[in-house]
Amino acid sequence: MEESQHIIDYLDKTKQKKKLLPTFQVVFNHTLEVLKKKGRYEVSLSLLGPDEMHQLNLKYRKVDAPTDVLTFAYREADFIKEPITDLGCIMICPDIAKKQAKEYKHPYERELAFLFIHGLLHIFGYDHHGNDADAKKMFALQNEILDTLPIDFYTDINRLKKELLLAQAGSMATYSHFKVGAVVVTKDGKYHRGFNIENSSYPATVCAERCALFSTYAAGYHLEDIVSLGCITSSRNVGTCCGVCRQVMSELMNLTCPVYIFNRDEKKKLFTTVGELLPASFSKKDLNA
Ligand SMILES: [Zn+2]
Repeated sequence: MEESQHIIDYLDKTKQKKKLLPTFQVVFNHTLEVLKKKGRYEVSLSLLGPDEMHQLNLKYRKVDAPTDVLTFAYREADFIKEPITDLGCIMICPDIAKKQAKEYKHPYERELAFLFIHGLLHIFGYDHHGNDADAKKMFALQNEILDTLPIDFYTDINRLKKELLLAQAGSMATYSHFKVGAVVVTKDGKYHRGFNIENSSYPATVCAERCALFSTYAAGYHLEDIVSLGCITSSRNVGTCCGVCRQVMSELMNLTCPVYIFNRDEKKKLFTTVGELLPASFSKKDLNA
């Protein structure tokens, strides 16, 4: 793995089972990229228990309760002429993050990413305590960063593989006998199946990817609900999506959405994104330009 130019001085006092630093590192790099920050940055990130968060919240914010995230930005004067800009400290409480994740019905690691982004935006001067316009600006940016993270917090790959086999079993490949299954995963944890449906008038055939996507939309979901798309073919090779499906995917999914493609025995795979499958795609923006 390429060494990141940005540094997280990381301390986990809560002994999390899963190593979370790689996730935080991606979140840090991505946030700096979206904010168009040049140079190298360092931040201290600590995961603390609710009692310690409570003490710090009381001491520094005069609030007598535990909290999910605390941020201490270094003063501007400290930034000057350092090769690496030290941003300050962020403290996150995983116990509270876990509760909030349940409340907001999204994955725990996504809530941790959200809190880290929230802290980073505070360090860069964004605020939501003052007027409504500032708060609106901060929350919009926060959501943009979270929604474009190159991390899939939702898709369970083992479940996806099972769903793909079930989808493929329904394939109506009457003429080619080339069975394809596709599955669209949505943020509510649902897996929407589709398969190729062939027709004696060959061009009337629909591919599994479009079948799964169209049925997801028909069930009332929208672009922002879609997390990823999986696909399995009856080829020994990794048979990737056709050009027509790539065009449709580029319009009905975010370009950053992961695409997981497996060959028939799942020994070969290609994990990519919609944007990588169709770079420089034609879009509705081009229509009226
Ligand atoms: Zn296709």
